[in-house]
Amino acid sequence: MRTIPTLPKLATMFIDSHCHLDFPELQARLPEILHTMQTNRVSHALCVSVDLPDFPKVLALAEAHPHFWASVGVHPDYEDTPEPTLEQLVQLADHPKIIAIGETGLDYYRLTGDLEWQRERFRTHIRASRATQKPLIIHTRSASADTIRIMQEEGAGVAAGGAAGVMHCFTESLEVAEAAIGMGFYISFSGIVSFKSAKELQAVARALPLERILIETDSPYLAPVPHRGKMNEPGFVSHVAECLATLRGISVQEVADQTSANFARLFKVTL
Ligand SMILES: [Zn+2]
Ligand SMILES: [Zn+2]
Repeated sequence: MRTIPTLPKLATMFIDSHCHLDFPELQARLPEILHTMQTNRVSHALCVSVDLPDFPKVLALAEAHPHFWASVGVHPDYEDTPEPTLEQLVQLADHPKIIAIGETGLDYYRLTGDLEWQRERFRTHIRASRATQKPLIIHTRSASADTIRIMQEEGAGVAAGGAAGVMHCFTESLEVAEAAIGMGFYISFSGIVSFKSAKELQAVARALPLERILIETDSPYLAPVPHRGKMNEPGFVSHVAECLATLRGISVQEVADQTSANFARLFKVTL
């Protein structure tokens, strides 16, 4: 792949804990995306894997850029894709720039029918996370009860001898958030929390301990206000932080400092 210009060292500000920069629409605009990150003081981003065929692209981004990391995993919405084995995930995760396993989880909203394969795939990822002690990135949609149950059954979370992790792009209830936090997990908010209609989610974002909150874009999807409807990119995560600061009545700097410290603690990286 072509070389990416290196950003000058920034003071740690915002970290985008979840983006898909390997998707063609973002990859094609990389120089511009790096520029917006710099302008909006977004110092780091975690590039999240969705399937094995595209994993080399995700890894290449992390290898080419000092401010990017990557994960390895197969998304629950990808039905017709090679199924990862435990051995494969463990082997691919054995790289200093691979700091997490996922994204994995359950999605009963996008897919219906017999989803036993989704649950089996989720179990494989939790086992890989336990084996590597790298945190899980969990996607859960309309499936929170099964998600928490399988996490418990497979020993996800520090208390059960597993690694911790994050419930990404969180849209569930306070009870689900608290159950995950009880297992040592973190909760990541995307641009959805900035949408006017997201009153219940905003109440969750107000109630949780700031020490357990991460911020993300999930770009190219779900651009936060004031970019709603546009293609999302990691630089826009600053708007998620601004929204959380307003909701909680604290400064944007406090949100930046705390969410970045949380990211470093969870993923065991030095900033
Ligand atoms: Zn997701
Ligand atoms: Zn994602």
